[in-house]
Amino acid sequence: MKALEQAVGVDIGGTNIKLALVDSNGSILNKAVMETGNAWERSSFYLKLYNKIAEILKPESSWQHIIGVGIGVPGLVDSARGHVFYAPNLRWDGIDLKRELADHIPTSIRIGNDANVATLGEAWMGAGVGEENIVMITLGTGVGSGVLINGQLYTGQGVGTEIGHMVIDSKGPKCVCGSRGCFETLVSAKAIATRATEIIGEQISKKELKKVFASAKKGDANATRVVNETATYLGIGIANIINIFNPSKLIIGGGISMAGNVLIEPAVEVAKEYSLKAALERVTVVRAQLGNDAGVIGAGGLFLRGESNDKN
Ligand SMILES: [Zn+2]
Repeated sequence: MKALEQAVGVDIGGTNIKLALVDSNGSILNKAVMETGNAWERSSFYLKLYNKIAEILKPESSWQHIIGVGIGVPGLVDSARGHVFYAPNLRWDGIDLKRELADHIPTSIRIGNDANVATLGEAWMGAGVGEENIVMITLGTGVGSGVLINGQLYTGQGVGTEIGHMVIDSKGPKCVCGSRGCFETLVSAKAIATRATEIIGEQISKKELKKVFASAKKGDANATRVVNETATYLGIGIANIINIFNPSKLIIGGGISMAGNVLIEPAVEVAKEYSLKAALERVTVVRAQLGNDAGVIGAGGLFLRGESNDKN
């Protein structure tokens, strides 16, 4: 029997980097986490990455057993060229990542935007299995997104879809992108923490949002206001996504999705008011299933997930 193909998936975050050895069934064979550290000191960063990948290979350092290393990068990425336009958390600005890594990593490399890669992971092994047209949004510190059309990741002319920067309120808060009232400025963890701080009248950090959602579940009035205001913006965003992409599944991932039905149910109610009935009838809004593993599985999937193999 032919052994399953294997690849390494790397999910780069602002604080941590997750790595996994993945096989063509989408199973994780080995995994590790390392600190992101000073990613802008690129030579030493690439060396650290090389060493960590070598560690999780089985047998260790046997690069010839994998078909490639797929990497999810938190920023604007041209996956076809392997170019990173901008990754503010890593202080990367205009880097030919694939070419630079080729000097350090002795196998094929593919890169993608982190949320795109997580979407591939969910499509392959999680909440989107068997679906051809899905949209995923990740509600975390920022808001990421991925769009799968006819089973393929849609990345437009290379910059890709950035649903987090869809404008919801033209008079809304200023966004890091320079625009105003972007989806991200209204439903990211940071935005919800700011809203909670204003409504509850005491400093609420992103980490304390769990408590706010729990209080809302118990019926606390202020916490319920925080959730309902968030659900309104989230619902408008969901309606826009439904109207534009007509997906069969809209997957919500990221830390904030852990709030679950207390946030998602009212958001879907709002979405019903703003979306086209025919499109609404054909979509289900669900939570992501793979949690923190979506990124590494999807990054490995850049090589292993059948139909994406002919790309890049
Ligand atoms: Zn923006």
